[in-house]
Amino acid sequence: MMIKTDVHEMLIDLDKKHFIHPTSSLKQQHESGAPFIFTSGSGVYLTDTTGKKVLEGMASLWNVNVGYGRKELAEVAYEQMSKLAFTNSFSSFSNEPAIRLAAKLAELAPGNLNAVFFTSGGSESNDTAYKLARYYWKLKGFPEKKKIISRKKGYHGVNIGATSATGISPFHAMTNSLAPDFVHVDTFSTDSLRECIQKEGAENIAAFITEPVQGAGGVNIAPDGYLQEVREICDENNILLIADEVITGFGRTGKMFACEHNGVTPDMMLFAKGVTSGYIPLGGVMVTDTIHRELVDLSDGVLLHGYTYSGHATACAVGLKNIEIIERENLVENSRQMGEELLKGFKELKAEFDFIGEVRTLGLIGAIEMVNPVTNARFDTLVAPKVSAEAAKRGLIVRTVGFEGMDTIVFSPPLVINKQEIQELISILRDALAAVQESL
Ligand code: PLP
Repeated sequence: MMIKTDVHEMLIDLDKKHFIHPTSSLKQQHESGAPFIFTSGSGVYLTDTTGKKVLEGMASLWNVNVGYGRKELAEVAYEQMSKLAFTNSFSSFSNEPAIRLAAKLAELAPGNLNAVFFTSGGSESNDTAYKLARYYWKLKGFPEKKKIISRKKGYHGVNIGATSATGISPFHAMTNSLAPDFVHVDTFSTDSLRECIQKEGAENIAAFITEPVQGAGGVNIAPDGYLQEVREICDENNILLIADEVITGFGRTGKMFACEHNGVTPDMMLFAKGVTSGYIPLGGVMVTDTIHRELVDLSDGVLLHGYTYSGHATACAVGLKNIEIIERENLVENSRQMGEELLKGFKELKAEFDFIGEVRTLGLIGAIEMVNPVTNARFDTLVAPKVSAEAAKRGLIVRTVGFEGMDTIVFSPPLVINKQEIQELISILRDALAAVQESL
């Protein structure tokens, strides 16, 4: 639905004055105004105040897995809010949607990851996992085991712990103080992990955290065997393995959880985003039966960690319905199949444009790299943002990664995308690449 030009202008103005946007260029927002003010969505499409319809190649922030405009999710939220919107879960109080969602997640999660601590998003899930890992070792009589190892190019969120675990330098440079006891290793190198353990001492390390597929760091897909070897290294050294499935969970990679590609069960698994497809904030940390049992047996007093909204009744009711939709519509399998279509399209584009380097997908998460064909290195000026801008003009939203030596376009469309919509995505991308090619 288009809204009147004067209302649109008024919104742009108020946005500039009052809305500090997350992970945005404040200057650009102030000078140019919001590029889109969205008003509605349906399936893989969004519409803005000017009536422009765009194909969402990113499912917003890798999270709107079931697509936009799902009335069922609005209805379940309405019903739950009318009955009991919220009641806290501190002091062992409970509510039905949280209990049922915890049980459903235990059914879906790999191995014996059977207990969940709820949060409101991915960053909270990360900080919760670090604290739980340290608490666990403390209870077991190893209070020195507190360091958290993470990977370069990994992204874990923006809380102070999550920022410190993140391995993308501009996120560190934004602030002048990080949390202590975080160390980083090379992205796919198990040697680097072994060396780090040697250097820091296993007796000082609580956990290693990894995204099965790095998302914000440029969609870096681990080579076969990597996660299995990491599992072995962690076991040999009494280090907990934490999988950050905030992006990869709930079908994104063509499996319900990405760890399933490798048959690896982590000790803790983090989720957020796709658990509610963004219809309401929710996240969590799953732990194995073993850890859960030990936490119960060894703890004394109160677990002094909890968010007001841990186990939020309405959020959990929406989560349950969202998972029901994912299962009912076979969206995990659709993700696998459409991921193959997407890769086919990327390969066609690579054959047409000599400045496309590596292309990759795993289910419906993917990337194409921009490479100077003459030097076989990155262009002096980033090309991916130019392609993204041309794509947006033509009605396709994608994101770009331009740090740590990357010049990459990343993709993560809603899992409901069909073959025709993939073709539309590729076709708009082709036009955007052609427009940029002329300027290279
Ligand atoms: N972990 C991963 C792998 C993510 O991609 C993100 C966000 O993109 C987060 C954690 C942080 O989640 P949130 O933005 O919900 O705090």
